[in-house]
Amino acid sequence: MLQVQTIPSRQDNYIWLITKGNQAIVVDPGEASPVVERLQQQNLNLKAIFITHHHHDHTEGVAELITRYPHCEVYGPQILIPGVSHFQVMRDQDLITFPDLDLRFTVWHTPGHTAEHIVFHGHGALFCGDTLFSGGCGRLFTGTAEQMFNSLQRLASLPEETLVYAAHEYTYNNLSYCLRVEPDNIFTINRIKEVSKLRQQGCSTLPSTIAIEKQSNVFLRTQMPAVINFVQNLSDLYLENEIQIFAILREKKNNL
Ligand SMILES: [Zn+2]
Repeated sequence: MLQVQTIPSRQDNYIWLITKGNQAIVVDPGEASPVVERLQQQNLNLKAIFITHHHHDHTEGVAELITRYPHCEVYGPQILIPGVSHFQVMRDQDLITFPDLDLRFTVWHTPGHTAEHIVFHGHGALFCGDTLFSGGCGRLFTGTAEQMFNSLQRLASLPEETLVYAAHEYTYNNLSYCLRVEPDNIFTINRIKEVSKLRQQGCSTLPSTIAIEKQSNVFLRTQMPAVINFVQNLSDLYLENEIQIFAILREKKNNL
């Protein structure tokens, strides 16, 4: 199983640190200092940086990390990353392999939150940036509802036990919305209790799993009658397909 450490960052970001022996891979370093501190504390070398998308809270630490660890490789989406002059552009289905560490990750292109967004998965773990959150999904900035819907469906096709390492601690707020949409979903009722307890203890609610998300995250449940009813009550439109349901569901969350 993959060793993954949580580095809380900014107000509610998580930077994920994958470690193997004395080597580390960092995902979405929105700032450098807490990463450097962790690497130094544990005598780790930074082998690689994974970037899911260009937003500053996922990338602002990259330039400094490259300066401090000039041999580390940077893998990112097909868009300019502020302050990073060169990195390896990853496309859908690309593989990133570290033979010396016996690690291998697959990249998927998951547009929706942004038009260029990628996720990394391997060894039972998914690093999904701002595409999938626990109980929610990213806002639609430069991507479309259709893209996001398809990206989420694809992530939902991963094995149920896959650990979901999302980039933000939004779980409680997200689940409050899920409960509003599906007030009778027992799984969600129990999950929000658990999440609330974790937050009171100052603990992270991540990683989640694909199984948890499929049972509680309304953005993966647009085929469920309760979700369809909720959306139908918001809209005079004739609901033609799940993408339309998804789009209205996402839009409503923005306007709460
Ligand atoms: Zn973002």
